[in-house]
Amino acid sequence: MPDCIFCKIVKGKIPANKVYEDDKVLAFLDIKPVNPGHVLVVSKDHDLDLISTPDELLCSIITVAKRIGKKILELGLGEAITFTFNNGRVAGQVVDHVHLHIMPRISGDGYELWHGREYLSGEAEKITNLLKLE
Ligand code: 5GP
Ligand code: ZN
Repeated sequence: MPDCIFCKIVKGKIPANKVYEDDKVLAFLDIKPVNPGHVLVVSKDHDLDLISTPDELLCSIITVAKRIGKKILELGLGEAITFTFNNGRVAGQVVDHVHLHIMPRISGDGYELWHGREYLSGEAEKITNLLKLE
């Protein structure tokens, strides 16, 4: 994907602070971190988002993210970690190349979590039936 910023980073056409690389994935610092140590793990192939990424590749992304997350905690860069795939614009995806955010979390850092709503009467049962996997 010639115009994709993460493909350019994968190919070394633009610089990034790389923390891990193998034949399938690359991990580098996010340019605008929630906190220092905020890392993005991306596939080397261009896949749009989590849904369109092959399962095996997703496993590689998550396995690398787990290792980096462990190190973030060991180093004390975060008290906890938020791992996030934004999938689609409304969910906050800006770069259309699959990436997993590893965000070190610090008390009072201001990162906004969702504000849950209540289910309406009968709604949870209906949604559960719709979502059930075969
Ligand atoms: P999204 O909102 O798509 O889930 O996240 C995209 C992330 O990519 C953002 O957190 C943004 O800061 C990061 N980002 C965008 N452009 C660049 C870049 O050129 N280099 C790096 N290292 N990160 C980038
Ligand atoms: Zn790409």
